Amino acid sequence: MKVVGLKCRICGKEFPAEALYTCDNCFGPLEVVYDWEWIKENVSKEKIEKGPKTLWRYKDFLPVEAEPVDLGAGYTRFIKAENLGEVLGLKNLYLLDDSTNPTYSFKDRVVSVAVTKAKEFGMKALGCASTGNLAGSLAAHAAKAKLPAYIFVPAGIEKNKIIQALVHGAKVIEVEGTYDDANRLATEVAEEHPDWGFVNINLRPYYAEGSKTLAYETAERLGWELPDQVVVPMASGALLCAIHRGFKDLIRVGLVDEKDVVFNGCQPEGFPIVRAVKEGKPVTPIREIKTIVHSLAIGNPADGIFAKEIIEKSGGYAEDPSDLEVIEAVKLLAKTEGIFTELAGGVTVAGLKRLVEEGRIDKSDVVVIYLTGNGLKTSEALVDYLETTVRIKPRLEEFEEVVA
Ligand SMILES: *Cc1c(COP(=O)(O)O)cnc(C)c1O
Ligand SMILES: [Zn+2]
Repeated sequence: MKVVGLKCRICGKEFPAEALYTCDNCFGPLEVVYDWEWIKENVSKEKIEKGPKTLWRYKDFLPVEAEPVDLGAGYTRFIKAENLGEVLGLKNLYLLDDSTNPTYSFKDRVVSVAVTKAKEFGMKALGCASTGNLAGSLAAHAAKAKLPAYIFVPAGIEKNKIIQALVHGAKVIEVEGTYDDANRLATEVAEEHPDWGFVNINLRPYYAEGSKTLAYETAERLGWELPDQVVVPMASGALLCAIHRGFKDLIRVGLVDEKDVVFNGCQPEGFPIVRAVKEGKPVTPIREIKTIVHSLAIGNPADGIFAKEIIEKSGGYAEDPSDLEVIEAVKLLAKTEGIFTELAGGVTVAGLKRLVEEGRIDKSDVVVIYLTGNGLKTSEALVDYLETTVRIKPRLEEFEEVVA
């Protein structure tokens, strides 16, 4: 068995590998502890390369034994962005494009792992608190797993994300308040129903591991090498921490050479992790949420302190572009690379642009950025910022006038 147990990320207290998520000693979050000897004996580049073209090619690194609940997430497009690189002045810019996952966001990676774990635990229902993308992903995987799903979202998120969750038959509860309010309520519900698996609450230690596969893919697609720098969008900060763990895993088992990757994180303007990095202060929650980037709008980021530490220790930085910069960045990516990313991807591209302008990224650095969602989910936000259509009668002369 590759999973040995769970461990507190703050005080180190150990726990059995059950559906636990907080330390009873210091209230710190828990993480999975692996038997690295087992993993080292079992993984190899050849085995991975022969595996399925999904995240399950990395199953030996993931905290589950059961047959995966698999819609085909992972092993998404990895692209050298020549055109965007040219505009920004970068020679080796790569995009990992998770907008093509089964439910069109990177959340399919974490959900596939967490729902598989819920099946393993014999749980009776699934749940989550979501800023939007998790909702659709959990609803779809719950359908595949034949389990009911209870999904808590803040009122006012994008309609498309709600429709996506509803179509799979999930119960969607719109909570009057912010994501943090929805999350607090979902946590109470999870406490009341210990045999329900709330993927980002009582299954969080397992769930978070799904994001490590982005790191494995990055290395594999670069020919089993690590990049110089990464730029990662942050909501709770869990994704950034997981990519960091993933690179360390690969070094640990000898699949890549040791290298210190520089971690940069991006959030919408004024959000707590970036603010803390910029001001050199502890991460403090914000109450008032003002951004169009709903998928990253977490005012009280659970992994904030860990993400900040990784960014600082790696010599990276954090940026928080404005909503307007985000929209411009979505358009820039679409026009240069033919990829329509959601607003979170706009945060990442806009953040990258700022980092380059500040001279924090060298022209020749191998840079990987993560596009975590699909633009069609947040297309409403763009309506006022696009050229309008041209309306004509079905006559050649009218068209010729338009292009004249
Ligand atoms: C959830 C999400 C993230 C990252 O979330 P973390 O809480 O930091 O792991 C990034 N992009 C999109 C589109 C998301 O939905
Ligand atoms: Zn502890």
